[in-house]
Amino acid sequence: MKSIPRRPRWPVSGGDRKALAKAIREADHAYSVNKLKAAEARSAAARFECDAWHAQIFQGGPMYPSPTMEDAITAGYTGVDLQCKQCGTTKTIDLAAIRRPPDMPIASLDDTGISCKTCGPQRWKLRARLLGLRMPYKATP
Ligand SMILES: [Zn+2]
Repeated sequence: MKSIPRRPRWPVSGGDRKALAKAIREADHAYSVNKLKAAEARSAAARFECDAWHAQIFQGGPMYPSPTMEDAITAGYTGVDLQCKQCGTTKTIDLAAIRRPPDMPIASLDDTGISCKTCGPQRWKLRARLLGLRMPYKATP
């Protein structure tokens, strides 16, 4: 079976050759511009998703449905705020340092275990309440 070339055969010379070269240049440019626009649109969509979720939990609504880890990172969030359920101290954790699958919902970090410096050294990790995402990330001790 004969394969079909992805690009048409180059004309030997003349105006057709120049027109084809111009059309290919324009297609390459349109590809890169559209690729950039798609990345921006994905980032904006993820940001809207995270903002809607923040509004939902701020109003005391349910944690689910929740944006995923990938959504939060794509939206530009860099940290997650957790509150120790024992003493109420809040702690910001770097999103990049959380080793979880990208499709995991952010809400599953609620009731997660953290080591709390205020409560002192523990043999086990203390439960933490998820407060929300943070942008930009600022480490807390
Ligand atoms: Zn604590």
